[in-house]
Order: sequence, then C-alpha cells, then structure tokens
Amino acid sequence: MKLLVTGGAGFIGSAVVRAAVQRGHEVVNLDALTYAACLDNVAEVADSPLYVFERADIRDREALDRILAAHAPDAVMHLAAESHVDRSIDGPGTFVETNVAGTFALLEAARAYWTRAGRPEEFRFHHISTDEVFGSLGPDGRFSESSPYAPNSPYAASKAASDHLVRAWHETYGLPVVLSNCSNNYGPFHFPEKLIPVVILNALAGREIPVYGSGENVRDWLFVEDHADALLTVLTRGRPGRSYNIGGEAEARNIDLVRMICRLLDARRPEAAPHERLVTFVADRPGHDLRYAIDPSRIREELGWRPQVTLEEGLARTVDWYLANRAWWEALQARDGVGRRLGTVA
Ligand code: NAD
Repeated sequence: MKLLVTGGAGFIGSAVVRAAVQRGHEVVNLDALTYAACLDNVAEVADSPLYVFERADIRDREALDRILAAHAPDAVMHLAAESHVDRSIDGPGTFVETNVAGTFALLEAARAYWTRAGRPEEFRFHHISTDEVFGSLGPDGRFSESSPYAPNSPYAASKAASDHLVRAWHETYGLPVVLSNCSNNYGPFHFPEKLIPVVILNALAGREIPVYGSGENVRDWLFVEDHADALLTVLTRGRPGRSYNIGGEAEARNIDLVRMICRLLDARRPEAAPHERLVTFVADRPGHDLRYAIDPSRIREELGWRPQVTLEEGLARTVDWYLANRAWWEALQARDGVGRRLGTVA
C-alpha cells in the first residue's frame, strides 16, 4: 500500500514509518517538524526508494490538497498531534489548533481526495488516539470501545474532540475510517520530556528522579514497536467505522515502573547504584488521572493481534537503547521546555 503517515517524525509515527517501509509499503511522511520531531528517528529508512518526506502542517489545507494529489495514497494514518499532557495544561491553545482544527482540515482534505477518486471502498483514514479520552479508572475495571468519553486534561479533551470528528465523517459522509485508542507507549526514540526517558536520563546524570504525587498512578504500558504492529493490523484488517482499543496488558504503578528502571540501571552501572536513592516525590499534576487500563479483547479476537514484548523485556531494551544513543537524546535535551517542570500553571 501507499501510506500517508502524519506525525512520522515523532515517537510513535516514526515507529510506524520504519515498520511500514520494512514490510514493503510505500510511505509519505508528512510532519511539520515541531519541537517534538526528529528526522533522525526515521534515518534508517530515509534512503529507501519507498520513503518520501513532506514538511507540512496539518492545519494547512492547501498543502494537504497538494500532497494528497501528488502522492495519491491508498490510506492516511493520522498520528500528528500535540501529545504532552503537561504542555497542554500550560498552553491548551496549540492542542485545540493542531489536534482538533488540524484533524478537521485533514479529514476535509481526505474527503475531497477520496470523493475525486470515486469514493473507493478500500480507502482508509486511520485516526490514532489515546485511552486518555476515557478519563480515569478506579482500582478495578478496564476501558472497552464502548466506555464513555470523559477526558480530564486539555490534551485528552482535544483528542476526544478529534475522535468525534472522525466518527462523524464516517457516519455523515461515508468516509472509510478506522480508529484506535492506545495506552501509554514506551521504547526507543521516546522524546526526553516523557516519564520513562526522564527517569533513565536523570538517573544517568545523577539528578533527582521526579515522581508526581505519591507515584500511585497506574498506566498500562505498551512497547512502541508492538503499537506500530497493531496499527498496521487495524489499518489493513479493521472494519470501517469501527474503533479498536490497543493495550499491553501490562499495568504498573508509576513508582514500581521507576524502581524497575532503577534496577536495570543498577545492573548496567553498578558504580552508581542504587539509582533509586534519586527518587524524589514532587507536587502532583493537576487533574492527574489515577488509572488507565485497556481491555484489548476486540483487537485480539477480531484481528488476532496481541503484544509480543513484555514490560520487563521492553524496559531492558529501552534502557539499553538510551545507553547506546547518547547523541540522539543530548541534542533533544537542548530544546525549549525539556528538563523543566511543566504543567504547573493550574
Ligand atoms: P510525538 O509528540 O512524539 O509526535 C508528534 C509528531 O506530530 C511530531 O513529529 C510533530 O512534529 C508532529 N506534529 C505536531 N503538530 C503538527 C502539525 N500541526 N502538523 C504536522 N505535524 C505535526 O507524539 P507521539 O507520542 O508519537 O504520539 C503520536 C500519536 O499517538 C498522537 O496522536 C497521540 O495522541 C497518540 N498516542 C500517543 C500515546 C503515547 O503514549 N505517546 C498513546 C496513545 C496514543
């Protein structure tokens, strides 16, 4: 297939681009290259004849029309977004502009392109979203595809709004869409402002490892390459108009996750052990959801997908990747806001 991937210079988008090219798909990577992007993430496919990069903003309708006409993709995989909850607390405007207005512009461009092509049934618009749209769980239960939407952060609200637009474009215009809502990802090329890289990099530098609140918040972790595989499965085999929850069935409290990473570092750098001595509890994030957990029955039963990488194995691979790729993360640590506590404005 020829895929137009938006946000392909980011963390998950780049994993999708690498996996798709490896499987023989043609990929057009459309990315505005915001602070969160890094073209090194796709360096391993950059010279492939299957790969093209287009620098464009998803809010720029003219650019979208031009790129769709020039490349004539069979499917759009939409990952471009503002993605950091803490930044959404300090500056929600960009989240509404990119995640809501940008998704609207992309849907309209895709609809015009699909209509001009004679409304082919096999075209797909795959919208990639998050489990955060469902809000917070108590100690029990898991999110299914029919869980009510109850977003709590500006980020989650903007993603929820974009999910609703995508659903409506299917119901109203018949655009063949699929949606997926995934739990927290981790792995190589994770931008150094997110929890797992912050823990690894602060521990390596001998700096405090900040843990929000008392570290009781639970997330359901999925290795990013498993997510990329799930997304290509949903794209090629998911039913139009349907949404699929994707999760790793690997729940962990933040504090336990941090301790696992510290133990991995202790084994690799015993001279600095125990890294856990650096853990520092800091003021909680406002509106911090207590627990997310995904019920992945639908994607498992309908599409036969399940994660391949356990949390233990994925964390070890991630720690080793950061140890081996210092130049990558050092360059990104210089970017605006990285290394500062964000999201305290509320
Ligand atoms: P990221 O922040 O690492 O990457 C986002 C990419 O989108 C960047 O390359 C950025 O340059 C690009 N982008 C941002 N605004 C743009 C615009 N206006 N036009 C074009 N490109 C733009 O994000 P990520 O963690 O890779 O997340 C990708 C998608 O997956 C997002 O839609 C996010 O909501 C969703 N998601 C993320 C997670 C997670 O754990 N990270 C979990 C579930 C779903």
